[in-house]
Amino acid sequence: MGEQREGLTRRELLGRSAILGASASILALKAMGQNAGPQAVDLLITGPDIVSYDDAGTVISDGAIAVTGNSIAWMGKAMDAAKLFSAKETISASGLIAMPGLTDTHYHTAQQFLRGVRKVTHKRGPRWKSYLIPFESGLEPEDIYHSGLVGYTSMISVGTTCFLEAGGPHADEMGRAADEVGIRGRIAQNTCDMDDDLPKTHLWSTDKILKESEALVKRWEKHPRVNAWLSLRQIIVNTESLRTQIAELAKQLDTGIHTHLCEGTYEVDFTVENYNLRPPEYFEKIGIFNDRMHCAHSVLLTAEEVDLYAKYDISAAHCAFGNYSLAPHRMYDMIRKDIRVGLGTDGPSGRSTLDLFQVAHYAVLGQTIAAGTPYHAGAPIGYPEMIRYAARNGARAARLGKKTGTLEVGKLADIVLVAHDDYDQYPSLDPTVTLGQNVVGHNVQTVIVDGKVVMKDRQFRTIDIAKLRERMDKRYPIIMERFDKAIA
Ligand SMILES: [Zn+2]
Repeated sequence: MGEQREGLTRRELLGRSAILGASASILALKAMGQNAGPQAVDLLITGPDIVSYDDAGTVISDGAIAVTGNSIAWMGKAMDAAKLFSAKETISASGLIAMPGLTDTHYHTAQQFLRGVRKVTHKRGPRWKSYLIPFESGLEPEDIYHSGLVGYTSMISVGTTCFLEAGGPHADEMGRAADEVGIRGRIAQNTCDMDDDLPKTHLWSTDKILKESEALVKRWEKHPRVNAWLSLRQIIVNTESLRTQIAELAKQLDTGIHTHLCEGTYEVDFTVENYNLRPPEYFEKIGIFNDRMHCAHSVLLTAEEVDLYAKYDISAAHCAFGNYSLAPHRMYDMIRKDIRVGLGTDGPSGRSTLDLFQVAHYAVLGQTIAAGTPYHAGAPIGYPEMIRYAARNGARAARLGKKTGTLEVGKLADIVLVAHDDYDQYPSLDPTVTLGQNVVGHNVQTVIVDGKVVMKDRQFRTIDIAKLRERMDKRYPIIMERFDKAIA
């Protein structure tokens, strides 16, 4: 798979977050060649404190980032950049922090319009089956498109530049929305081929799922930002035949598989009763555990199963808003074993916000309770480290560790500019600490994805938000009426 290893211990990480501005700048200048005149670049960001989250923990105060095309061409000091570059667009970012965009490693586009809604259902079974899938079943392609527009703009507004969709209906419409918004993402199709209680919209034959999934991946394989992954929705609604064939297809198509794993006791009961194995053991036995498998939640894992994740290089999404209601998540063990565990929101149907900074805060507290010795030492994963893991491991979970997740020359220009002098942030002496402790999504000012400015000073350049809300306000009552019927 070739993803870079995290490798740093917590002690090393803390030791490396020193301000390294000058040396980074000199290195970059040497790489440029010093005799050339001003070089034309597409975008120049001047003045921010740059928190790169690279291996060395580089932080450049009063820095600058030059972007050509979709990539970072240069990073250094603002005073040097002024002499070196003439840019088509210059963003003055003094007083801001530049950081890599975050990846939401588990998201459900089709559940976006459950934000702000809480209804009662008397249907039985896990909530995703009794509440969430019935909601999805009432959505038409245009609704998914609008869900995507609202969800992906919401993500950009809080500093998320990439998402991993878990798998939902009308996946092409997710792609259409992601393309228009300007976000990076991995869309996926809903895949249920078992359980007669499911709505007809959601229960497809195994063959149909395989055919449609393959076609979806191929339709999106050339897009620079938006590609499709395969999906296995959940053990209890998938046949073994689908599981093994999806794994084979992922290999052929060289793509990932997004699934939910170890998120409910019913799921463990199901595999123990049917196969006399726990879910990860079962996946290993049927030969589908490999580095393509991305397992959302992964909460109910034994210590041995964490070792299985490490052995097979399984990636995971820790959704801290909801996971601690299930069990203490083993994120700290996963990090120590260099497992590619990122953070996810699980969509807005639970905590409602898509703000990964807030997910990170929950995760710090959760890990302190689950794995810490709070009276004798610091948190197992501190606030500055958690947001760094969110950036780096999020990219690695998305199979993009070599391209995103850090700000480095040659990487894709997915850059977030964040305020660090707001009322609840001042004084900000170390930007790595401010990012971990004081920044929330609403402090995000400007977002660049794939070299394009998507949001500038909290105004979108790609989407007319007022028109979008007008359209949705008309559609919303119809969606809710269908939902009421579906959960009655
Ligand atoms: Zn989910």
